[in-house]
Amino acid sequence: MSDTPLQPIASLLIHRVFKWVILCVVLVSSLQAWFNYRAIEDNFDMAINDVAQAHLPLLSVTLWDIELQTIQKQIRLILKNTSIAYVNIRASTGQQFNGGDVKRAVGGQRMVFDIPAPADPGRSLGSVEFVIDKSVLRRELLRSFIVVLAETLVLSVFIYVAVVAILRHYLEKPMRQLADFVKNLQADQLSTKLELKRRPANSYNEIDLVVDGFRTMQDSLQKHITNQDALVAERTSQLEEAMRALKQLAITDGLTGCYNRLLFNERMPGEMQRAIRYQRHLSVLFCDIDNFKSVNDLYGHAIGDKVLIAFAQSLKNALRSEVDWVVRYGGEEFILILPETAFTAAVEVAERIRQQVEQHLSVSLAEGQVLHVTASFGVAELRAADSMESLVQRADQWLYFAKSHGRNQVQPNAASSAALDLHQSASGFVDQGG
Ligand code: GH3
Ligand code: MG
Ligand code: MG
Repeated sequence: MSDTPLQPIASLLIHRVFKWVILCVVLVSSLQAWFNYRAIEDNFDMAINDVAQAHLPLLSVTLWDIELQTIQKQIRLILKNTSIAYVNIRASTGQQFNGGDVKRAVGGQRMVFDIPAPADPGRSLGSVEFVIDKSVLRRELLRSFIVVLAETLVLSVFIYVAVVAILRHYLEKPMRQLADFVKNLQADQLSTKLELKRRPANSYNEIDLVVDGFRTMQDSLQKHITNQDALVAERTSQLEEAMRALKQLAITDGLTGCYNRLLFNERMPGEMQRAIRYQRHLSVLFCDIDNFKSVNDLYGHAIGDKVLIAFAQSLKNALRSEVDWVVRYGGEEFILILPETAFTAAVEVAERIRQQVEQHLSVSLAEGQVLHVTASFGVAELRAADSMESLVQRADQWLYFAKSHGRNQVQPNAASSAALDLHQSASGFVDQGG
């Protein structure tokens, strides 16, 4: 988010409106004041004229009769008009009569009117001079300007308050709610509907446009995320499937489908630990196809492969599927791991397999010929002190023993009592119970 402090649009507009209101107030007041000034000044001149016209006939008579007291009374009457500061009557005989405030008269505007004779308006008896005091006019102008200013100000304040309220209600509040909603929206709450708290309006405005646009965007985002989730789930399951296949491939021998050395090295230590910890029997059979090299040499590698596959199948068939497991240890060498199986039972299993191979394992050759093979077996049971290598080595030694004593046999067996004695004298806890 930007670090710039937030300035709501409504406040900005209110600011602008305020400036314009002030400008309008000044302009309107000035214009109104100028018109008032013109009107007041015109009225003022007319009023002074009216005063003169009202008093001239009586002045004419009193000057004709030279009634001094009446003339002074006339002057006092004229001076009742506060705009006239000083009155000076000059008779044609040279006499002068005056009244009023001489100080106020200094610099004032002067208006002179002829005093006609009562019977002969064409003949002048003298003149009357008014000295005008404009301070009254100025006060009047100022008062009128203040009234106009006050009126315009009050009106402007009302308009301003109304504009502020409208902007706040229709713009600032919804915009603020929109901004808060967007700011607090989390990726996992996209389905939360945007609802503005405001009175339902009859019109459809830009705020509604934004709200609708935002809802549309939320919906499409939600759909997109759902699609992506489904896609990710699908890809994940494909990946898991591929991983399973890979793992299977990594631990399985491609030709025979038996486990490979990698799996043996991984799984065997656990198998041995379990047997030793719970004092359970564990035996292994090391088996090897007899004269297999000559099979390859005589019938070709492909037939050799078929023999390997068939031999591996015989081994698998002979085992308890959930407990025992078979590993292709080398070229045509296999190891069978028999948990919970004592040495004697393991020898019996080996013998059974040996017979099965001898009697039933056959591979078809060209022209209806059938190939039979045999295999030799070395048997060893786990002792407490055994390592994986020593256990395998002992079985391998018995296999070598079988090979060197004619092949197609299980070693040690009951017939080779010397070998059996040798085995029993060297065995650990596993042989003591059997
Ligand atoms: P023995 O009775 O003493 O075991 O004699 P053998 O010929 O079986 O022994 P040797 O170890 O000399 O021969 C094993 C042969 O197995 C050699 C090799 O060519 C062959 N071999 C190893 N792996 C494969 C394979 O995957 N397919 C085929 N067809 N042959 C293989
Ligand atoms: Mg062999
Ligand atoms: Mg071999």
